Amino acid sequence: MSQSLRPDTSSIYRGRFAPSPSGLLHFGSLIAALASYLDAKHNNGQWLVRIEDIDPPREKVGASAAILTTLENYGLHWDEEVLYQSQQDKVYREVLAELGQQQLSYYCRCTRGEIKATGGIYQGHCRHLSQPASNSAIRIINTMGISQYHDLIQHSVTCNTELAQEDFIVLRKDGLFAYQLAVVVDDIYQGITHVIRGCDLLEPTARQLSFYQILQRNPPKFGHFPLAVTQQGFKLSKQNNAAEIDQKNPVPSLFAALTFLGQQPPKQLQQASVTELLTWAIAHWSITQVPKSQEIVL
Ligand code: GLU
Ligand code: ZN
Repeated sequence: MSQSLRPDTSSIYRGRFAPSPSGLLHFGSLIAALASYLDAKHNNGQWLVRIEDIDPPREKVGASAAILTTLENYGLHWDEEVLYQSQQDKVYREVLAELGQQQLSYYCRCTRGEIKATGGIYQGHCRHLSQPASNSAIRIINTMGISQYHDLIQHSVTCNTELAQEDFIVLRKDGLFAYQLAVVVDDIYQGITHVIRGCDLLEPTARQLSFYQILQRNPPKFGHFPLAVTQQGFKLSKQNNAAEIDQKNPVPSLFAALTFLGQQPPKQLQQASVTELLTWAIAHWSITQVPKSQEIVL
């Protein structure tokens, strides 16, 4: 598949943190950055940062630069240049064209309302439409429908089979590239071997695994840590305005994130420098200590 996608480099650990610039880093995204960083560094791997800026309407001005500054202030230094998804058009288009040529995708004009009326799961209604129509999305023919996989933290994951078998969207009706397309293409493009991220992406991972099979590529290994939730039980996210983390004083947030990840940092490290804390954390990182679920109230 696609010329732009580099060959497998699977003998070297390559991890990544892939924030969307829809807001600044909060405690939930700090955990994602830290967990992916520590797993990479503990395994003598490389850690990359990718800005997932494929959705301009949801982007917040200045967020990309602010996220990168925060990572630097927190001592989380990345290897290689930051990849911006907004620069990847050509690569995504190439993959879309190949999917089309191999008749692995089709145009779909169905509205959200129509899909809802047939039970909410897309039933392949437009599979016969091969002509591009205006105002249509592109769906992939999901021949794999993977619904179960092994996870480095959750162990065996089982997803809703109907959802896992759905022909999912790779190009949105509004012309924007879908998350599923961009994330899989870029994880291949960057030679990513390990993806450590939050449990909100457990279901999308099943689709992504199907996508790797359709593209005939080896998938990375996945590990999903539990989500930090607000007092009301909502996932901490930019959408619910989760508190930003302190820029000037990273140690308390790093210490709290390590504790959340089950790493049990010794108390005296609360007085340590960022470098000392991270050095300890890299050396002592144990993915088996990350809890499968956690109802931490922040
Ligand atoms: N950009 C996505 C987010 O901020 C994460 C994608 C991923 O880790 O695969 O939620
Ligand atoms: Zn349709």
